[in-house]
Amino acid sequence: MTVRAYIGLGSNLDAPDEQLRSALQAVDRIPATRLVAASGLYGSESLLPGQPRYTNAVAALDTRLAPLALLDALQGIENDQGRVRKERWGPRTLDLDILLFGDDVIDIPRLKVPHYHMHARPFVLYPLAELVPADFTLADGRRLAQLLQACPFLGLERL
Ligand code: ATP
Ligand code: CA
Ligand code: CA
Repeated sequence: MTVRAYIGLGSNLDAPDEQLRSALQAVDRIPATRLVAASGLYGSESLLPGQPRYTNAVAALDTRLAPLALLDALQGIENDQGRVRKERWGPRTLDLDILLFGDDVIDIPRLKVPHYHMHARPFVLYPLAELVPADFTLADGRRLAQLLQACPFLGLERL
């Protein structure tokens, strides 16, 4: 069974735009997985003071992997691109989050889908909106259009 998943990409270290471009190629090379589409790149200030600016994007992919196997593969790509985990929400070369995994709602410590905070993040919602129809509904029933309305395009820059 093939599932359409959406992932959020983010970077604010070591040439973020290049990090995202190579991450998209790496995602397309995950076994049993195909990159379907990628949004444009978006720049924004870090939510935490004193960090470099972020570049973010969202990608659609089709995968025959199970959710945790996809997470393993994404974390492998983060590591390959030099992700070092120190403090939470610290600066990073690459962050890959599973935003949506088909119609699945998953709530285990290692994986919460839909991503627990995507509704409040313009750098997730606006790129996602490039890839889905206007009437798109999340697996838990929330409508993307309503989330966008509640989350202004503030501080976001389409690169
Ligand atoms: P945030 O989760 O607020 O975006 P972050 O991406 O910086 O912060 P990480 O340090 O990358 O957080 O991830 C911490 C843990 O979150 C991961 O080890 C992973 O197991 C877990 N996790 C839970 N849900 C998800 C998800 N939907 N996508 C990716 N990781 C998730
Ligand atoms: Ca994240
Ligand atoms: Ca993450």
